[in-house]
Amino acid sequence: MSQSISGGNSENTIGSMQYRTLGRTQLVVSIMGFGASPLGDVFGAIDPAEGMRAVHLAIDQGINYFDVSPYYGLTLAEERLGRAIEGRRKGVILSTKCGRYGEASFDFSAERIRQSVDESLRRLRTDYVDLLQAHDVEFGDVEQIIHETIPEMRRLQQQGKARYIGITGYPLGTLVRIAEAVPLDSIISYCRYNLLVDDMDAVLMPVAKKHGIGVINASGLHMGVLTEGGAPSWHPAPAKVREAGSLAAEFCRSRGFDLAELALRFCFDYPLVASTLVGMSTPDQVRRNLHVLSAPADPEMVQQVRAILAPVFNYVWPSGRRENSDPVREETGEPPSR
Ligand code: NAD
Repeated sequence: MSQSISGGNSENTIGSMQYRTLGRTQLVVSIMGFGASPLGDVFGAIDPAEGMRAVHLAIDQGINYFDVSPYYGLTLAEERLGRAIEGRRKGVILSTKCGRYGEASFDFSAERIRQSVDESLRRLRTDYVDLLQAHDVEFGDVEQIIHETIPEMRRLQQQGKARYIGITGYPLGTLVRIAEAVPLDSIISYCRYNLLVDDMDAVLMPVAKKHGIGVINASGLHMGVLTEGGAPSWHPAPAKVREAGSLAAEFCRSRGFDLAELALRFCFDYPLVASTLVGMSTPDQVRRNLHVLSAPADPEMVQQVRAILAPVFNYVWPSGRRENSDPVREETGEPPSR
């Protein structure tokens, strides 16, 4: 299959899935992972039956890595994913999180982490997860995460409730600080490697390599910015970034291409991460995104889209506690070094 990704004339075939080992773990994950946050209605209400069919199609087509959290839809995503994988647990590498329970609700204490895992296991209808990650660590006290949360997660690992553990978050500085301080199996970094931003490559990857930590890239569509539909209202990116996304989508449309497909292909082509998580909730999205895997990106289109996005390239936003946030000029999102 060598056809370029384009709108209109793409073949209705499903590409063959590739797999990569996650760091030093024994988890061999599909390079496209299923992000289950949309199952919790976080990008708008979904049809739960469609969501279930999306999960089943993904499994049938070789996607074996599923990521969720109690935070997504305030437990709704875990409930729905649990129902969907019931009876199919064996073929699934299941990842959930702990420590974040709402927009502003965080608890990284050992006691809450223990409870949290038991609650997640009930909702997910299983007795272990493959990966347990402390969710959005920049909102916690980093010292607590290093000295209390991670050690408790290791105890849960010893008890067999999680095969491997890790952290997730947005500011690269905080991810690096924790990775340097305590052994981790995995990290999810989101919105830091895609057509709009690539600082994860220079900042996080060398540290991950040094410690043998498996990295998963999330939000290759920049949480909706790099799609026809655009970003949801809660999106934290500066307005200029969202506007640049709309311009890029318009340009792609005028050339018969789909921005989301180009954006995903760009991420799948990055070989240093084990998997790229894509948020999905319908069989049609699963099919389209699988098709992306079967066709190379058109290099000229990628170059032109990157030129449109260049004025806001590597713009970020503050996230978490002030002391954990990456340096950023809050009014624009521009990195101070620019
Ligand atoms: P994303 O960039 O994957 O965007 C998801 C949005 O794009 C959804 O609205 C989805 O319906 C839409 N979409 C998917 N395929 C599309 C296509 N082909 N065309 C147009 N639109 C399409 O953002 P995300 O869902 O936030 O990130 C992916 C996953 O990564 C999440 O579901 C979650 O599992 C994980 N994640 C984790 C963290 C964290 O741990 N802190 C943060 C962000 C994401």
